[in-house]
Amino acid sequence: MKRLAKYRRIVIKIGSALLVDRQHGLKSDWLASVADDIATLRTNGNEVLVVSSGAIALGRSILGLPPRALKLEESQAAAACGQIALARAWSQALGNHAITSGQILVTLGDTEERRRYLNARATINTLLKLGAVPVINENDTVATTEIRYGDNDRLAARVATMTGSELLILLSDIDGLYSAPPAQNPDARFIAHVEAITPEIEAMAGAAGTELSRGGMITKIEAGKIATASGTAMIIASGKKLNPVSAIAAGEASTWFKPSGNPVTARKRWISGQLGETGTVAVDDGALKALNSGKSLLPAGVVRVEGNFSRGDIVSVCDTSGTAIGRGIVAYDASDAARIAGCKSGRITEILGYDGRSEMIHRDDLVVFASGAREKVEGHA
Ligand code: GLU
Repeated sequence: MKRLAKYRRIVIKIGSALLVDRQHGLKSDWLASVADDIATLRTNGNEVLVVSSGAIALGRSILGLPPRALKLEESQAAAACGQIALARAWSQALGNHAITSGQILVTLGDTEERRRYLNARATINTLLKLGAVPVINENDTVATTEIRYGDNDRLAARVATMTGSELLILLSDIDGLYSAPPAQNPDARFIAHVEAITPEIEAMAGAAGTELSRGGMITKIEAGKIATASGTAMIIASGKKLNPVSAIAAGEASTWFKPSGNPVTARKRWISGQLGETGTVAVDDGALKALNSGKSLLPAGVVRVEGNFSRGDIVSVCDTSGTAIGRGIVAYDASDAARIAGCKSGRITEILGYDGRSEMIHRDDLVVFASGAREKVEGHA
């Protein structure tokens, strides 16, 4: 797995056509081989997340639905039956390696709305911390057109950026990007490296796809845009062989997309790029020193809370003189933040009645301005 060793956290997205066969249902041998690969990655110190499609495809085979386009309620019913079987299959395949898996079903809102995004992220990170492999899919049974991703390529890219993953691997029945859709174009050239997703690269994607999956090359390029912009590298590779991830590591043809920054700076860029803050937290000199040295902001260092913000909002952080020293995503609503301001983190549960985060703003969610770029904020502190 040498080629993949430098990517600490890896999201592997698996397309429906790889996991499910029209006639025979779940491809258990193939799944077992992916579980082998995941076990090897983990032994090498990588953290692995899986975004697995296949609920609808598996469900339609379980329910014996006819080979035609399904109505929305039919695919949702198929997803309901398929997801349960899919989760069981993953749990067994990973369980054979003594790996625990945890199922997460998300909808579009869970990754786009900040508060839900933070919740989903916290759950996924906790699973990883506890040594489990998160197995993620869209919650197809409830998501309808306007509120759904519809394809797991983009969903996987959002999962990768949300978890600060260094690499996203899209496994499907396509071995990579070609200069034109290869099915219609025998002269199409294979593209092994993509430095940046330019309009030219976008034009290379046709509307391909198989009857079992929704994502063709277009959604993969869309996923690439999401991933690379946030500093996540992406690989498009064929998963048709057994042990497909080992095959990539061993040099199997695949398309590699270069990230445009590293995950932390891209995330921080996102925070700095947010328009306006909804409130301010003022910090004491001790906290100021801690923030300057890259630490998180703990409630104990907060001397004042202003504004009417919600958990997950961007707030300004200022010193006691009212000079803005940074901004970040706050982990508490304004009223709760005010109640725990000045208190030790160990007292949070006792004061609020629930088990909140020990940081008011985690360092990953905090941008501290360079000392030359700090300005006094009107009306604050
Ligand atoms: N979420 C869908 C499923 O599990 C798959 C979407 C896709 O093919 O990208 O069936």
